[in-house]
Amino acid sequence: MDFVYDDQNIFAKILRGEIPNKTVYEDEHALAFHDIAPKAPVHVLVIPKGPYVSMDHFCTEASDAEIVGYMRAVAKVCEITGVENGFRAISNAREDGVQEVPHLHVHILGGRDMGPMVAR
Ligand code: 5GP
Repeated sequence: MDFVYDDQNIFAKILRGEIPNKTVYEDEHALAFHDIAPKAPVHVLVIPKGPYVSMDHFCTEASDAEIVGYMRAVAKVCEITGVENGFRAISNAREDGVQEVPHLHVHILGGRDMGPMVAR
């Protein structure tokens, strides 16, 4: 599959500092920030700093260091947000995944029982 990254997407603008965000965690590989429309008491988006559209794009083309760094950032966010009782990690991709923003992000949702895995 050919992956095409659009650097005008909103998370690219956040990474460039053109749009503000409420940062939860940042390091050389990842940025995590609160979702603008939270669906749970904890709703944080974790994005890699590189130009990847989706999880399959990232896992195909990112370096080992980027992948490890990003996954460690997900763990840091879980620690920082205090979701010891559990959480749901979601990464939507493309049309069927109902992805709104075409820059890879993992939603970390928690702070309550997250209910059924898929609504429909
Ligand atoms: P997707 O449907 O692509 O998996 O999720 C995109 C998420 O990004 C949505 O939950 C939406 O609320 C969030 N979002 C969209 N625009 C912004 C923004 O400008 N700032 C923040 N913090 N979140 C955003």
